[in-house]
Amino acid sequence: MNTTFAARIPRIALVLAALVCGTLARAQETSPEPSPAVAQSAPVPAPVPLASSLAPKLEALSPVDPAAYFLLGEEASARAQSPDDFRLARQLLVLAFELDRQVSGGRSIGASSLLALADISALDHERRWLRATARRLDPRYIREPWRIAGDRAVDSVTAYSAATALGMVRKGDGIGARQLFAIPGVFDAIRRYDAILAPSGTAGASEIARDADRWPCPECRNERVVRKQGSNPPEYRLCSTCRGDPGPKLTPAQLLAQIRVESMLLGKGEASTPSIASEFSTPLIDPDPAGVAKWYRVDPSLCIWRNGGWAPLNAQDAPPEPASAESTPAEATPADAPAPK
Ligand SMILES: [Zn+2]
Repeated sequence: MNTTFAARIPRIALVLAALVCGTLARAQETSPEPSPAVAQSAPVPAPVPLASSLAPKLEALSPVDPAAYFLLGEEASARAQSPDDFRLARQLLVLAFELDRQVSGGRSIGASSLLALADISALDHERRWLRATARRLDPRYIREPWRIAGDRAVDSVTAYSAATALGMVRKGDGIGARQLFAIPGVFDAIRRYDAILAPSGTAGASEIARDADRWPCPECRNERVVRKQGSNPPEYRLCSTCRGDPGPKLTPAQLLAQIRVESMLLGKGEASTPSIASEFSTPLIDPDPAGVAKWYRVDPSLCIWRNGGWAPLNAQDAPPEPASAESTPAEATPADAPAPK
């Protein structure tokens, strides 16, 4: 891995993605994770392959839900230790991208999948190509800080404060978030991503500001429990307002959008304008969405996980007909995937 770049991967976002993954997986009633099979005699056990520890989540994947592939790909990226682990992470993200193209024409999580692939790529030209393809697929990603307000980038301290404030709002720390929002530029840095934060016309940054005003929990002040009236010695019950989990209840789409904005704030805020200019110069490879699977040598028809490997889709799992036409512009060049290296 390119360590300089790896250091810029926003770990908060990845950890949060892993949490979402866990929630989704629980919702799908997966079985508990298997205990690692480690030889008793080995003094230093080899790390368990990610494919083994993630097997229940992998088997729960369904092509009708590309977002689940994306979230698991983000979790795999965060936990990957070996080349095989990274290969699994890339395969999940490529499948998320390809399945999203089938289900929604790439409008839902296609661009996010490409940016996540870029996050774990060690190759400069590959990252440039993935980001250019993401922008072509979803012009919202062009609205990045260095592209607006007269090319005046958000400075790294402001970007970090904005990302921190987003996380504070999510866990119900409205007081801390409002203190950061009071710093000039911090809330504006979030508002710049309104188009991503409000993917379906819902309120974006303004809703986040309202959530900051609603929390901490009015009943337990985020203590999660409240003292039973008249109890002595004191007894406590779960807070009935927040049910022990302070913070706004976000949909998976809203949570994904916030994680992506945090990722963009943390990842890009550290880079100086000249480095951004070179990183986002003309890509070396044609930014064609059709080339992604070929580049990574992923067969999109093998999209379900069975018996420790990718298997073809059964007829009963077939995804619905595409909701809309392919989003690739009409003037797009034909698939001209670069030869894998
Ligand atoms: Zn409460």
